[in-house]
Amino acid sequence: MKLQFALTLSIFATAFIGDYVVFKSKFSHSQIFRACSDSLVHASIGFLSSVLFFSHENLMDSSSMFNIAICTFMSSFIDVDHIFVARSLQWKDLTNLKQRGIFHCTTFWLVLTTSLLIYSYIYKKIHIYVITWMLIVAYTSHHIRDANRRGLWLYPYGHTPPFHKYIYIFLVGLLPNLLTLLYNCWKPNIYKHTVINYKLIV
Ligand SMILES: [Zn+2]
Repeated sequence: MKLQFALTLSIFATAFIGDYVVFKSKFSHSQIFRACSDSLVHASIGFLSSVLFFSHENLMDSSSMFNIAICTFMSSFIDVDHIFVARSLQWKDLTNLKQRGIFHCTTFWLVLTTSLLIYSYIYKKIHIYVITWMLIVAYTSHHIRDANRRGLWLYPYGHTPPFHKYIYIFLVGLLPNLLTLLYNCWKPNIYKHTVINYKLIV
């Protein structure tokens, strides 16, 4: 419980200080600095959120570390869709986008992760079940942080208004706690004491 509280505070602090460094520091005029530091903040929040997610289990076992690595990577990787939209690797094209890419569409992830959860539940695929939760932790934290600037993209309904800074920071810290509860509630009983050998699936 203490660890979860400390991790939640760390997520708040990372979002708050990270935004300052990305947007208001003396290096913020550099678009390369902003893009790199922004990715780092997304990855750090994804890392802390997934550590919180597994904090009730053994954090040091290989399956937890594997899943934490996936969540950390995906939290930052979502921004790769800038390249698809820009159809270019030129920096000026990547930083002057008029529209958002598919990975920033919240409906896309909702449909994908709900389908994967149903599939893993029906066919009892525990590794897909856990990895799907890592995708959920990654995309929710990334989208909510981005929503501070551009709102959530809920296709086909369009965009919500941008989230107030303190509302987004509160949600980013609250969500991994809520998702951990849902994960444990919905985890079928047969999964509860299953030890997964990740060497067999990677
Ligand atoms: Zn983004």
